[in-house]
Amino acid sequence: MTIAIVGSTNIDLAIRVPHICEKNETVIGSGSYEIFGGGKGANQAAAVAAAGGKASFISKVGVDAFGEQSMKGLIDAGVDCSHVIRDNNSATGLAAILVDQNGDNAIAVAPGANEALTIDDINAAESVIADASHLVVQLEVPFDTVRHAMKLAAKHGTAVIFNPAPAPAANEEFGPVTYFTPNEVEAAALAGIPAEDENSLDKISAIFFDRGVENVIITLGARGCFVRSAKERIFIDPYRVDAVDTTGAGDTFNGFLAAALSRGEALGQAAKYACAAAALSVTRHGARTNLPTHDEVTDFMG
Ligand code: ATP
Repeated sequence: MTIAIVGSTNIDLAIRVPHICEKNETVIGSGSYEIFGGGKGANQAAAVAAAGGKASFISKVGVDAFGEQSMKGLIDAGVDCSHVIRDNNSATGLAAILVDQNGDNAIAVAPGANEALTIDDINAAESVIADASHLVVQLEVPFDTVRHAMKLAAKHGTAVIFNPAPAPAANEEFGPVTYFTPNEVEAAALAGIPAEDENSLDKISAIFFDRGVENVIITLGARGCFVRSAKERIFIDPYRVDAVDTTGAGDTFNGFLAAALSRGEALGQAAKYACAAAALSVTRHGARTNLPTHDEVTDFMG
């Protein structure tokens, strides 16, 4: 079955610099710049497709070269972009990224068309959500739009995977959520308590259950992930790898998780597969150029 992804599309424009510039300073980068397809929505849609899932993306871009470039990249990756809206009144989202010699970065984002994705746009794509087994959402488009997509999913019996990134205000209502996938920083911020040990992860999960979440999956970076539902409590051990670039690990995790759940895998097994995919992705550079294939992940899992 299809997986509907509602979310952002960005172009990431990266310049390598000797140091991150100070206020009012101009810093000259080394050579040219690099352009990558980005945005959490687009990255997660590409990850669903890499995992062998049928990804149908609902997003908004400008009528500009960056919008065309983003769409081409996603279509080439196997994502159905027939519900990506071209908006005459806004520019495609852009992230301007400075990366210094230590790999540290400074990022400024112009959300552009992502901010203009409306409830009406979601209504126009209601049939995509209705026909999907799962809806995947994050928070680089307006929260009201995301909440509306989740309501439509509930109306049609479509399971919701909600990756609350970047973290929203702690008191925001979520809406009906089947799988809630914060990283540990987002989980702590949303629950209002630090995510330190098993005990605190249990407490955080209980807070999310009270807010209407059915299953909690907290990603723990190099420590793997924690899965909690009414029936299960599982720690997925990390796959030990030499990480060179962890950008987009969470997006890879969410896309592969969605694809596995859509194939009917049990939550624990799907989370393990997602951990393996994300671990492979951090051994390579980029947020989308590093995506492994389904076969690579299953070989890696042994
Ligand atoms: P990002 O914001 O960089 O996209 P994130 O903070 O949302 O990532 P993380 O919790 O850092 O998400 O990572 C997601 C998953 O990726 C983890 O649950 C883990 O399975 C895998 N992962 C991340 N970093 C490593 C690492 N260094 N080694 C092995 N696996 C990793």
